[in-house]
Amino acid sequence: MDGGLLLRAHTKNFATVPKKEFLLLLNLTKEKATDWIIENRNTSMALILEKLLERPKGLAATELMQECKTTRSPLQTLLTRKWIRKEEKPEFDLSQEEFFPSREKKLNEEQTECLAKIQKSLTEKQFAAHLIHGVTGSGKTEVYLQAIQMALAEGRSAILLVPEIALTSQTIERFRARFQERIAVWHHRRSLGERTLAWEDLRQGKARVVIGARSAIFCPAQNVGLIIVDEEHDTSYKQSDEAPCYNGRDVAVMRAHLEGATILLGSATPSLESRYNADTGKYILSTLRTRATSASLPSIQIVDMKREFEIAGMFTHFSSPLIDALKKRCEIGEQALIFLNRRGYHRHQMCAACREVVKCPHCDLGLTFHKSNNHLRCHLCDFCREVPRSCPTCGARETLQFKGFGTEHVERSLHALLPGIRTLRMDRDTTRKKDDAEDLYRQFKAHKADVLIGTQMIAKGFHFPAVTLVGILAADAALSIPDFRAGETVFQLITQVAGRAGRSELPGEVILQTFLPEHPLIHLAAQQNYEGFYAQEIAERKLFNYPPFCRIIKITCFGTDEKETENSARALHAQIDSAKIPDIELLSVVPAAHAKVKDQYRFQFVIKAQKIVALKNILHSLSSKIRFKIDVDPVSTFF
Ligand SMILES: [Zn+2]
Ligand SMILES: [Zn+2]
Repeated sequence: MDGGLLLRAHTKNFATVPKKEFLLLLNLTKEKATDWIIENRNTSMALILEKLLERPKGLAATELMQECKTTRSPLQTLLTRKWIRKEEKPEFDLSQEEFFPSREKKLNEEQTECLAKIQKSLTEKQFAAHLIHGVTGSGKTEVYLQAIQMALAEGRSAILLVPEIALTSQTIERFRARFQERIAVWHHRRSLGERTLAWEDLRQGKARVVIGARSAIFCPAQNVGLIIVDEEHDTSYKQSDEAPCYNGRDVAVMRAHLEGATILLGSATPSLESRYNADTGKYILSTLRTRATSASLPSIQIVDMKREFEIAGMFTHFSSPLIDALKKRCEIGEQALIFLNRRGYHRHQMCAACREVVKCPHCDLGLTFHKSNNHLRCHLCDFCREVPRSCPTCGARETLQFKGFGTEHVERSLHALLPGIRTLRMDRDTTRKKDDAEDLYRQFKAHKADVLIGTQMIAKGFHFPAVTLVGILAADAALSIPDFRAGETVFQLITQVAGRAGRSELPGEVILQTFLPEHPLIHLAAQQNYEGFYAQEIAERKLFNYPPFCRIIKITCFGTDEKETENSARALHAQIDSAKIPDIELLSVVPAAHAKVKDQYRFQFVIKAQKIVALKNILHSLSSKIRFKIDVDPVSTFF
């Protein structure tokens, strides 16, 4: 969709008056409540009281009913008995929360040079795009903070986008501590009341800095002078699952263009597109090569897992160098991160007789075994079932075997290998509720555990000063995915995860376990050689004509009937083909990577084009009788 149009559509309709919200709080002493709960275990009222004991600041009635799975009537009873009370929810007013003002930090030479370029753009008051390529821990945030200061001094406002997962109170605090002015925080998990207030404050110019995830780019900040997109390569900026498919980063560039603002795109591993824009002079490039705290980048050791299996004579998650390092680090009171890109216990269950995987009945995906609740779960639609006794495909008994491993299994194995080790796990399963991720983050930072095991959730933005060791269990698995971005994704992931090590005075160490120790990309990642990676990758993209050398449009058809859906996709394909548009490449119709999701079949095809404009008319004229989705510049051509 056209960025400008989308912006105008969004900034218009959001002017409802904030509705008053109420919270329910416990009105009994802890002792009384606990006694009563013990005597009345598992009743609705006991569940409610228990929940409120956990949440001393209170909960909204709707949230409470949802979390305790109760109706309104037990709440009413508790209110009548005056065991709980109702209070108006405090307005979201940041000026009343405590904050500790922070001062500007002294910049090093590279940061100073970068900021000088930004200042020049800001004073010229014309659109300018900067790419800040800074190694992990290079102090990009301090550059952002001082750039915002400059924009405010010019009487303009600033928008800061961060990846969804990095929008933690730690991040917000850092910005709030610097600016005396009100900061608006924009996040879809905030309540409607909170969002309405933030919206009004921005519209009236009371708040002049907004921090948020991708949709914050549509906020009505007035007279925008500066837009910052941190971790610009991050795929969470892209909204792909629902219409409109847009990339928050690209909309940000468009908005800066419309407002004559300066935009900063920052990353330790810039996307190929952005880096290419810097190469061709569209973006102004600043490189921060050194860590701001004078800490050095961690050293990365590659471990060949095929050899490790031979030596151990069996499968193991942990190579001997990793186990030794874990022991050593934990003994001296330092912390470690273990990264694995799969959650659950076993990846799936397979029949030894017919070789079929136990699949979700609604999706084209094998079910993952979760030991914590002894169930098989679908990672696409959350369908859950008990472990079957016989093969659902061929009916054979006792032929089902568990295959592959996830974070849950890694955690258990670690306990078996190093008894007494304290671990925390951060993945989608342990962070289902709103504040879970942040609670885990705080616990780990307070050294309540020696090792944090997690999926890519632990790779982004977190700053743990005591982490000196990072173990990457199988980052190369994604290399086998047939997608033009596979190499880029793996390089980015290794660099980001490795970057969590040794961010303070203590030097960091990274152990990278792989089955492809000779793979050039693994070597470039281990050397943290972005330039080498970029040179190699951009040459390949050019050779095979992929972005940034062309634009990609992915068209996906949906339907409950497999054959019909495939035919629809073919009909659209034929319609585009017959239009004989010059300079486009039309790839054939294929089932999507997940060929069925939630009982909907999916067929897709990809168009490569030099210019999207050439396709505008034909895309608008496609049959309205068919259910399909158009994704321009998709994150992946595979998924
Ligand atoms: Zn079978
Ligand atoms: Zn499913």
